[in-house]
Amino acid sequence: MSVHLDDGDVVLHLRRGPFPVPIGERFWCKAAVREQGCWDWKAGRYPNGYGKISGRLAHRVAWEITRGAIPPGWLVLHRCGRKECVRPDHLYLGNKRQNLRDCKDAGQYRTPNPNPLRGERHPGAKLTARNASEIRAFYASGRSQSSIAALYGVSQPTVSLIVRGLRWV
Ligand SMILES: [Zn+2]
Repeated sequence: MSVHLDDGDVVLHLRRGPFPVPIGERFWCKAAVREQGCWDWKAGRYPNGYGKISGRLAHRVAWEITRGAIPPGWLVLHRCGRKECVRPDHLYLGNKRQNLRDCKDAGQYRTPNPNPLRGERHPGAKLTARNASEIRAFYASGRSQSSIAALYGVSQPTVSLIVRGLRWV
């Protein structure tokens, strides 16, 4: 399902992944927030460093919970270069060629960048107007305020103010 916002933007593509909704709540409990803003998977790990849940890659599950199904053949890659991170806005879809290019450029999987997130993407930044729109759309699509709060690293009362139109960002 796509959600159309007031400004005509389509920002969410909420197709149901292979998981029942409640896995979201359980899933995020297994992620620890780091100072730099990464959400490190603290449950199982694969030997290569990727987080593991129910025999699957945790960052791919994170993508499916928040964005929907991963198109066949696509990889979920990390902007932050940290394999154990499951923060949805640190993830992006790429193909094998992009992944190989990253490996080649970095001489390994990817060299962690000390400050890869700038401006609005920086975890310390306040919510943006777009975030607020997304939050309203998430809420309208039936997500709980607490799960939305966890997703954006803000408090549930903040989400409540936003969805009631009492606060913009
Ligand atoms: Zn990260």
